[in-house]
Amino acid sequence: MEMRARALMAVIMLTTLVGLAIAPTGKAATPLPDPARAGFADRLYRLDCGHSLANDESVWTPGENVGRPIEFSSTCWLIKRGSNWLIWDTGVPESTLNDPKGWSTLPQLIVYHLDKTISAQLSAIGLKPDDIQYVAISHTHGDHIGNVTLFPHSTILIQRVEYEWISSPDGPNPNVNQLKALARKLMGSPKHLQLLDGITDVFGDGSVTLFPTPGHTPGSQSLLVHLRHSGFIILSGDVVHLAGNFRNDIVPTLNTDKAASIASMEKVKTMMGTYRAQLFINHDKAQTDTLKIIPAFYD
Ligand SMILES: [Zn+2]
Repeated sequence: MEMRARALMAVIMLTTLVGLAIAPTGKAATPLPDPARAGFADRLYRLDCGHSLANDESVWTPGENVGRPIEFSSTCWLIKRGSNWLIWDTGVPESTLNDPKGWSTLPQLIVYHLDKTISAQLSAIGLKPDDIQYVAISHTHGDHIGNVTLFPHSTILIQRVEYEWISSPDGPNPNVNQLKALARKLMGSPKHLQLLDGITDVFGDGSVTLFPTPGHTPGSQSLLVHLRHSGFIILSGDVVHLAGNFRNDIVPTLNTDKAASIASMEKVKTMMGTYRAQLFINHDKAQTDTLKIIPAFYD
């Protein structure tokens, strides 16, 4: 009897240790939702998460617009489903607020500015960062993870491939290496990290689905949300930066994999057909300026 109790104890201890060893927790991949049966999120809010000025548009449109400056939007999205809140990307660091010099991930190329903080925009609808259950990250570039540490109690949802990539050995492109180093710093060590292995149905009802769109970075993802009146909407992440690039399968020079980038854009086009979905492109300022902003929302 005593032997059995000891053995049981050992099993419990071992299970606990194994449990600790595999933390952060993973989440098994699921299929994309059935468009006819998907549940609904209640609201989708756009947050202004900064804007940026780049001195050479051709980095995003290789061979064209050489030396032409371009302005990009930086967008975060807030989703309400029942009593749960999920934020998609966290934008330019709040420390940049009203800094005339701005902030940069690659100083030779691009400078970001911030006119409103996430915290202030959340408080406009009565929320604090601690009210947000999930922070879903499209990818680890600084302008998307600048405020992850504002949400220490939230569960961070990121593709495993992306999380492992930022700690992988440096490659030949110094710009990419610099972005990875910055990503490690900005991510810190989140307490509640959930690493995803492919398509992830966040609430288990098809209302909010994360799906891999690699190419811009190895573990980039996009988000499909289903709303009662607006139907399906795809939030791009950086699967594409500009509507023209999407139409013509044009891949920015900073992307880590050109073929994968094109395949991901084609996947999004197919999904737009399947779900009759709109695509909201994070950095496309011309489109962003036409979209509702918090406290207004899509439902
Ligand atoms: Zn990016």
